[in-house]
Amino acid sequence: MSSTASFTAGPALDVCIRGGGAVGTSLALALSRQGLQVGLVAPPAPRTGTGDLRAYALNAGSVALLQSLRVWDALPDTARTPVDEMRVHGDERGQLGFSAWQQQVDHLAWIVDAAALDRVLGEALRYAPHVQRLDEAAPAALLAVCEGRASATREALGAGYEARPYGHTAIAARLVCDLPHRATAWQWFRSPDILALLPFDQPEPGRSFGLVWSLPQAQAEALLADDDRSFEARLNLAVQEGLAHQGLDAAETLGTLQLASARAGWPLMIANAQRWSGDGWVLVGDAAHAVHPLSGQGLNLGLGDVSCLVRVIAQARRSTPWRSPGDARVLRRYARERRLPTLAMGGLTDGLLNLFATPAGPLKELRNHGMDLIHRLGPLKRWLGHQALDSSPPR
Ligand SMILES: Cc1cc2nc3c(=O)[nH]c(=O)nc-3n(C[C@H](O)[C@H](O)[C@H](O)COP(=O)(O)OP(=O)(O)OC[C@H]3O[C@@H](n4cnc5c(N)ncnc54)[C@H](O)[C@@H]3O)c2cc1C
Repeated sequence: MSSTASFTAGPALDVCIRGGGAVGTSLALALSRQGLQVGLVAPPAPRTGTGDLRAYALNAGSVALLQSLRVWDALPDTARTPVDEMRVHGDERGQLGFSAWQQQVDHLAWIVDAAALDRVLGEALRYAPHVQRLDEAAPAALLAVCEGRASATREALGAGYEARPYGHTAIAARLVCDLPHRATAWQWFRSPDILALLPFDQPEPGRSFGLVWSLPQAQAEALLADDDRSFEARLNLAVQEGLAHQGLDAAETLGTLQLASARAGWPLMIANAQRWSGDGWVLVGDAAHAVHPLSGQGLNLGLGDVSCLVRVIAQARRSTPWRSPGDARVLRRYARERRLPTLAMGGLTDGLLNLFATPAGPLKELRNHGMDLIHRLGPLKRWLGHQALDSSPPR
């Protein structure tokens, strides 16, 4: 891969992107808007039978990027649901609550249907003037590797990927409940499993949730093998226990939860690439890093990478137009900017997991007290909230 090619001469393509997930597709759209010639290698995703059952919690930064790509408004209303309140509970009385009102933002996050997002990104590509779909990688000034965790190109480039599997699996599914979700997201650290209900408007507007339940692998496999009724019974019991710790009655808060889709499981890990960039290549999204979904931040980090890379390339084009987008110095700027927030987010989720890994003992009291304390300390809670929301703190 040559870094001597300029933005106006050299290989016919300025950028070749490998991987057509949400990150690779967003990058292609964003670079095309700068007038760069982009090739996208995106083999069709393998059919899973269930479709993608994930519901992503997207922060303000991700929404702003999707708006700038004219993708956000193309999402059907029922495929994006605002979250106005978030209730995080420990395994006793500990709790931490966030609200859009307290954080002084319109919404805390949006819950977005993963399959709908893929669809509208794919449609937007059809109208992107400078993007060609390729069957295989072609010479370009810059190769952007967006192949996700199992990236073969990253391996071939020798970038290294320090991965630590958690031995946990996240189960995703769609649910409907008896009572309105009231734009509230719930999360219970049940030690060792973590259960999250994300308010959603499909299939029943105002009464649906996206489920993300991460558990030790054997327990997850048993739950995935259960028939629907047994799964629902175990889920409702877990939710009742969580609500009871807060003195809430499940029948009055959510009612009964029922499955509204199949269930699918994802093995979980924390990972970071040793090198994020080199002469003529760069890693973006899950190809560069992976975090536990308890923070709902994996795609947010990937879209943050996209915004940063696109900005750094645009700045270089303005200030040093002779420099190639594959110039190692330009790419190092991107890697320097993105590494730290990614490591910080990985460390935070990893720390929380470890804190709640042991079911009993002195840590149990400490972690629940800690949660309560943060809940009562307004400024610290607001700061934490803004880190997750990717929004500026109110002045
Ligand atoms: C259960 C669960 C819940 C989650 N919830 C959230 C959430 O609420 N919020 C959030 O921000 N994140 C969440 N995430 C994380 C999020 O799903 C990922 O961070 C995101 O999908 C990564 O996108 P990506 O495009 O980098 O990688 P991927 O989605 O893995 O896409 C990579 C693409 O590259 C293709 N590919 C692979 N190899 C090649 C090759 N050699 N050539 C060409 N193409 C190739 C693959 O087929 C795939 O299409 C969750 C994850 C899980 C498992």
